[in-house]
Amino acid sequence: MSAEPLLAVSGLETHFPVRRGLMRRQVGSVRAVDGVSFAIAKRRTLGLVGESGCGKTTVGRSILRLVEPTGGSVRFAGIDVRATHGSALAALRRRMQIVFQDPYGSLNPRMTIRAILEEGLVIHRLGTAAERLERMQRALERTGLTAAALGRYPHEFSGGQRQRIAIARALVLEPEFLVLDEPVSALDVSIQAQVVNLLVELREQLGLTYLFISHDLSVVEYLADEVAVMYLGRIVEHAAADALYRAPLHPYTRALFSAVPRIDPARRSRRIVLTGDVPSPANPPPGCRFHPRCPLAERVCREVDPPATVVAGHTVHCHVAARELEKAGGDAETAAATVADMMARPLAGTLVGGGDS
Ligand code: SF4
Repeated sequence: MSAEPLLAVSGLETHFPVRRGLMRRQVGSVRAVDGVSFAIAKRRTLGLVGESGCGKTTVGRSILRLVEPTGGSVRFAGIDVRATHGSALAALRRRMQIVFQDPYGSLNPRMTIRAILEEGLVIHRLGTAAERLERMQRALERTGLTAAALGRYPHEFSGGQRQRIAIARALVLEPEFLVLDEPVSALDVSIQAQVVNLLVELREQLGLTYLFISHDLSVVEYLADEVAVMYLGRIVEHAAADALYRAPLHPYTRALFSAVPRIDPARRSRRIVLTGDVPSPANPPPGCRFHPRCPLAERVCREVDPPATVVAGHTVHCHVAARELEKAGGDAETAAATVADMMARPLAGTLVGGGDS
């Protein structure tokens, strides 16, 4: 990773007030994002994974200030995003774009593709009419469409084509950074690979940097340089993608990975279903937030929030993983194998067969 990351997120918090009663008094807060830190170097991709409701989408939106963070810092190319307002924030937003999950809902059905693509250019006052047209044509071509699309409406396109249009809408502003929020999960499986390959090509051709948010660990493995695993508003494990997939240390990461279909029998592991629901982010459990669902939970897990243990760039927040790492002299693969063995032991009432993603 280069010395100066393009994006640096530190202690990010996004809490939403819970209000009750006639006076709408605040009685609590939902801690959707609760102290998230990571950095992404230029031209790199960070995969942010976790179950639905873990806060990963809120992280992406908070970085772009589509929702206002309540704490922490976000720096983009050295600029303090949270301290930026007015025209400076608008200029920053041109450089940081987002592609949403739903290609049906994210394109206004009453607007032509030309109007959809031109909207951002007009807002940011970019180019003359002729220059804007040229930019729109170029963005469409980059996503595998032609200028003929400009006069048509979203309903005239398939789901995959609509997502290409959504990507073109982001590209037309010539951004440096894209938040890709589950960009292929609403598409047919046969189309997903095409769009993922397009994203890889665009990253190489245009030198883009991605935050790739997904619950699909196979797609993340293919695309990401690093992966961060989120649970209940926090990152519980973060490492280079190959290191994380080779040696997942956190019991939650192992449970997520156990549900990934593998063709290679050597990479298959026993599928783990976590019992119990994800606790409410309005009232997270004390100690380790994962302890009510963790088959390895010990007394300390219920009382003490596990600090970060970092070995060779691999960060994990888990008391048991930290202990096994220490016993293994910092060898993540040995420690991960021990954690896997422990999780494979039958522990009454905490682990059952099946799957969970
Ligand atoms: Fe499980 Fe304890 Fe590790 Fe949390 S700290 S993941 S409860 S073993």
